[in-house]
Amino acid sequence: MHIDSASREQLQEWEKELSAQYQRICEHELSLDITRGKPSADQLHLADKLDGILNGDYRAADGTDTRNYGGLDGLACARDLGADILQVPSEEVIAGGNSSLTLMYHAVLTGYLFGFAGNTPWRELENPKFLCPVPGYDRHFSICEQLGIGMVNVPMTDSGPDMDAAEELVRNDRDIIGIWCVPKFSNPTGVTYSEDTVDRLAQLGQIANPGFRIFWDNAYAIHDLEQQVNLPSIRSATLANDTADSVIQFASTSKVTFAGSGVAFVSSSPANLASLKQQMQAMTIGPDKVNQLRHSRFFAEFTMLKEHMQKHAEILKPKFACVLEQLEKSFGESDLGEWEKPRGGYFVSFNTRPGCATEVIKLAADAGVKLTPAGATFPYGKDPEDRNIRIAPSFPPLEEVDTAMSVFVLCVKLASVRKQLQMA
Ligand code: PMP
Repeated sequence: MHIDSASREQLQEWEKELSAQYQRICEHELSLDITRGKPSADQLHLADKLDGILNGDYRAADGTDTRNYGGLDGLACARDLGADILQVPSEEVIAGGNSSLTLMYHAVLTGYLFGFAGNTPWRELENPKFLCPVPGYDRHFSICEQLGIGMVNVPMTDSGPDMDAAEELVRNDRDIIGIWCVPKFSNPTGVTYSEDTVDRLAQLGQIANPGFRIFWDNAYAIHDLEQQVNLPSIRSATLANDTADSVIQFASTSKVTFAGSGVAFVSSSPANLASLKQQMQAMTIGPDKVNQLRHSRFFAEFTMLKEHMQKHAEILKPKFACVLEQLEKSFGESDLGEWEKPRGGYFVSFNTRPGCATEVIKLAADAGVKLTPAGATFPYGKDPEDRNIRIAPSFPPLEEVDTAMSVFVLCVKLASVRKQLQMA
C-alpha cells in the first residue's frame, strides 16, 4: 500500500474495504491491552523461589540482622548486585526500596530543593529545564511536570539523543539542569546509545551549568533478547572527561524478579551520593533489607542473574517477533509507518504518517484494543506531529498480542487512508 502515489478513487476503494473489515472486527467485542510494559505472569513465576528463600536465616554475610532498622546505603551484598548490573564499584551504589522511579524522583527533588554537591538548588534558577529525548518515558516527564521543571524536546536518533541539538541547547541556556536518558533499549524506541553519544554526553558537564545532571536510567541494562548488546560505560567516559559529578545512574530488578517488589539502585560520584543521602536520611531510617537479602541469595552469582534473564528473553522473544512480523508484513512495502527493531527492552515504537496516531489509538480502543494514549511519549502529552505509538507486548499472552496487532495494523491503514482522503 502506497498512499502518496494512490489516486482518489483508489483511496476511496481502500477506505470502503478497510471500513468493512474494521466493522467486522468491532463485532468481536475484544478486550485487549498492550499499553504498559509489565512483565507477564509467566515471567513473574521465574522468581517465585524468592519466597521462603531465607528460611529463617535473616543475617547477611557481614552479620547484619536484616530485620532491624538501619543501613541507609542498603546491604553490602545488595550493593554488589547493583554494582554488577550497572558495572560500577559497589562503594558508588546505594541499594534502595523497590522502585528506581522513586529514587529518580528523590534525586530530582534533591537537585531542586538542595542542589547537588554544593551547587545552586535548581529552584533558585529563573526557569530550570530538563532536556527530554523524544519519544521518551512518560513517567520521567511527569516528575518534571509535577515539580514545575520545564522540558525541552531533543529528537532521538538511532544512536541516542541528537547530540548536536543537545550541545547547542546546553551551551546557550544555563537554566538547563538535566537530561533524561534511557541509554540501553530506550523506552520506547529500543535504541542503545553509541560510543560517540555516550562520550559527547559525558562532555556536556564541561559546558553546562555546574549543577547539570544526566539522569542515566538504565532500566533495561540486562534485558537483552538475543546476544548481549554492549552499552559504553558513562562512568568511564565522565571520569575521562573530569565530569564524574554530572551523571547519576539508576537500575532495578523490577523486570528481573517482581515488578512491584524488587530492589532499586542509584549510583553516582561520592559528592552526589552524599547529597542524596542528606535528603534521604530525613525521610527514612533505611530500606527493606530483608528483600535485599532475598535478592542477594537468589542471585548469589552474577552468572545466575544472566541465566535468569535468558529465561525472560525466551518468554519475550516470540511476542516481539509477532509484533515485528505483523508490522513487516503489513507495512514493509508501504509508506504507512516506521519502526525500530529492538534487540531488548520492553517496547516497539511505531511512527504513523503525520497526524494519524490519535485516530489510530481511538479506532483501536473502539475495537477493544487499548494502546498507550497518543502523545504519552512526549512531555506534556504533546506529540507535535501526532505520530508516535508505543507498543508494549510483554504482558498479554502471545495469542492476544497477535490479535491486538491485527487490529492495530488495520487501524493504522484505515486512519492513514482517511487522513489522506481528507487532505486530498
Ligand atoms: N525507567 C524506565 C525507562 C522504565 O521503562 C520503567 C518501567 N516501565 C521504570 C523506570 C520503572 O522502574 P521501577 O520499577 O524500578 O520504578
